[in-house]
Amino acid sequence: MAEKPQPVRVLYCGVCSLPPEYCEFGSDFEKCKPWLIQNAPDLYPNLLKEANDKGADNVADKLQSTGISSGAGDGAASSAPKQEEVKRLPGGKIKKKDKQEVVIEKVVRNKRKCITTVKGLELFGVKLSDASKKLGKKFATGASVVKGPTEKEQIDVQGDIAYDIVEFITDTWPDVSETAIFFIEDGRKVPAA
Ligand SMILES: [Zn+2]
Repeated sequence: MAEKPQPVRVLYCGVCSLPPEYCEFGSDFEKCKPWLIQNAPDLYPNLLKEANDKGADNVADKLQSTGISSGAGDGAASSAPKQEEVKRLPGGKIKKKDKQEVVIEKVVRNKRKCITTVKGLELFGVKLSDASKKLGKKFATGASVVKGPTEKEQIDVQGDIAYDIVEFITDTWPDVSETAIFFIEDGRKVPAA
């Protein structure tokens, strides 16, 4: 049931292909910055601050426009396991292929900002845009559907709502049972029930 741990890979910058700790000495440090924020925030804590001051949206735009993906090298891309895709039948029904579960993770983007990510609701036939609106309303906060690192859509909810969210999910979408909800804590998957 546990997901395979991500293999530890040597990280190279997706922009200048130097090891990230050398990006600041490279020719295009400005262009590397969005990638670094996304992939090696620990190395350049100041960048996060900088980006935050400018506004997170700005960074997101930059990331998209430079088309960065984590498997930039050909070799790396082909050896990476392909993410299983959810097959949607016409009419929004979903082929049961992935295990049905909702995974909730609290992500601290920096010291001030905490985000609770919710993944997997779509496996229960829940429309994510709809769920995002409901979550935002319920917790009086910002919520949006975004593409996660694996290109799968997830819901990002501003703030730490991890411990109130289970009841809300099971009340709102009765198809999702508590036993199908998991938290990621310290990198491990923990059942909510
Ligand atoms: Zn770089």
